[in-house]
Amino acid sequence: MQVILAKPRGFCAGVNRAISIVHQALERFAPPVYVLHEIVHNTHVLEELRQRGAVFVEELEEIPKGAVTVFSAHGVSRAVADQAAKLGLRTIDATCPLVSKVHRRIIRLVNQGYDVLVIGHKGHPEVEGTCGQVDGNVAVVSRVAEIDTLDVRDPERVGYVTQTTLSVDDTEELLKTLRRRFPHISEPERTDICYATTNRQAAVRQLCDEVELILVVGSKNSSNSNRLREVARLRQTPAYLIDDAGEIDPHWFAGIQRVGISAGASAPEHLVTGVIEWLKRQGPVTVAEMAGGEEHVSFHVPELEG
Ligand code: SF4
Repeated sequence: MQVILAKPRGFCAGVNRAISIVHQALERFAPPVYVLHEIVHNTHVLEELRQRGAVFVEELEEIPKGAVTVFSAHGVSRAVADQAAKLGLRTIDATCPLVSKVHRRIIRLVNQGYDVLVIGHKGHPEVEGTCGQVDGNVAVVSRVAEIDTLDVRDPERVGYVTQTTLSVDDTEELLKTLRRRFPHISEPERTDICYATTNRQAAVRQLCDEVELILVVGSKNSSNSNRLREVARLRQTPAYLIDDAGEIDPHWFAGIQRVGISAGASAPEHLVTGVIEWLKRQGPVTVAEMAGGEEHVSFHVPELEG
């Protein structure tokens, strides 16, 4: 069997930064360190941090007064940040800088009197955090079919922002419809879909020309990992999203000679290595990595004061 590794794959700069912030918090302050929501959507990353003393909660009320609390990479609403202050929590913000950039834009649009459409998945923490930056007229749009019935105050003053981890293909389709309905819609200078999402999807698209089946390493609730699987399936390449090698079904490989492996932006590389080792245990395997695809993005990790 021939294995081709997508490049880039795995951890992005925002995930690296968020995980480093939790590690630093665990070193500076006595555990437990509380984290509101999953710091990133990966079960293995969470388990490792849990073992070091991180406690993941869904509600601020679960956190004892004065405890160190990290906001996840997906960002939080203003109401959540205010509530945390009222509860006397000592907060550390691990929101990805690229999500914060979207926050700044939605605030600017609302201040300028625009109605804002947030293109993304309803209920996803990033979308909730983005909508919650403003009190203005904001609606979440997930599907093309919703665009016709959107109710806005002035069709000339409508803007949009997007979730950072959307499908590039689907979003382009949705934006075409949006531009038809609102020809003067205010658009971001550059897409809000982040570099990591864009690059990982482009790599999987290329991989589809070279392999017969793709394994995407990532957790089931990871938005960008799910999109990678969709990119492959859209191109008629069978693709499976697996948390780790333990979820592989040997039946997938009947008659398959060339397998591609990618990993979502929150999936650690050692899980990819585990998948390769699993494949090697089944028979002879050659492993190659796609050419190019270098990324040089890194985000500053703030020094936490003890
Ligand atoms: Fe930031 Fe993109 Fe990574 Fe999300 S996927 S944490 S937006 S770099």
